[in-house]
Amino acid sequence: MPIRLKQDRDYFLAWEYYTLQLPTPKMVRIMTYRNLTLPQFLDRFSSEDACLQAVYNAKWPHGFICPHCGHSDGYQLTGRRSIECALCGRQSSILTGSVFEGTHIALRLWFLAIYFVAQDKGGASALKLSSQLGIRYATVLRMLRKLRCAMSEEEKTLKLAGYVEIDEAYLGGRRKVSEPGLSPFVDKVEVAVLVENEGFRAGMLVLKVMDDDTREALQPIIAADVESDTSKRKFIGDGKQHHTVVTTFGHKIKVCPIPKAELDATLPCLSLVISHL
Ligand SMILES: [Zn+2]
Repeated sequence: MPIRLKQDRDYFLAWEYYTLQLPTPKMVRIMTYRNLTLPQFLDRFSSEDACLQAVYNAKWPHGFICPHCGHSDGYQLTGRRSIECALCGRQSSILTGSVFEGTHIALRLWFLAIYFVAQDKGGASALKLSSQLGIRYATVLRMLRKLRCAMSEEEKTLKLAGYVEIDEAYLGGRRKVSEPGLSPFVDKVEVAVLVENEGFRAGMLVLKVMDDDTREALQPIIAADVESDTSKRKFIGDGKQHHTVVTTFGHKIKVCPIPKAELDATLPCLSLVISHL
């Protein structure tokens, strides 16, 4: 399961991802609300209507579709968070299927909570959020629980995409004192490390234990954790030839021996990850 680096845990403000239990959207939608400043965020989601519209857009990106009859025309009921189908007349709540379902808290406050959760690298504190939003501590705890649940559900379906750095590493690094003839990595667990390079920022990361250092061990990891649409995927790895296994899935890879001194510059995100193992 892909996880995010702590250093880069600015969970992108993609309502499509974090607030709705919908099929996994394409990566491009993650970028939509990424790195909004607080003033930009407040401008964008200044009212209940603006927030409701954002949920509506995430739920029905191509316009309303009645869940009862499949008709594609409906009207929002005045003052309500529901759409009435123009054909069958049944009502559908915009918030159903989202973390906001059944909430009595204003969407504006929910959105702000998500903003602070996304911005706070150390994980938002319920106590701090409670005073920032003016909401009871117990209520904030419930909101955070829902958000974290939605975020972890979403991460289970995420796959690496874009520019991916790939290598193997040993958990705990090399032994400081090695006996002659003994590998410095003896008894260490070997892991495959795949990390997205987003313009020299680390994106999502996959760490998986490998039974051995072979093409056969790497193949299922790539199959499970990398986006299968190969048109825009590109890998970079060091000289290990079994890294070229990614080409069997149709991905492109640049494999070249990299001198140790140039590792940080050539595979910056991998170096960062491995230095934390
Ligand atoms: Zn209908």
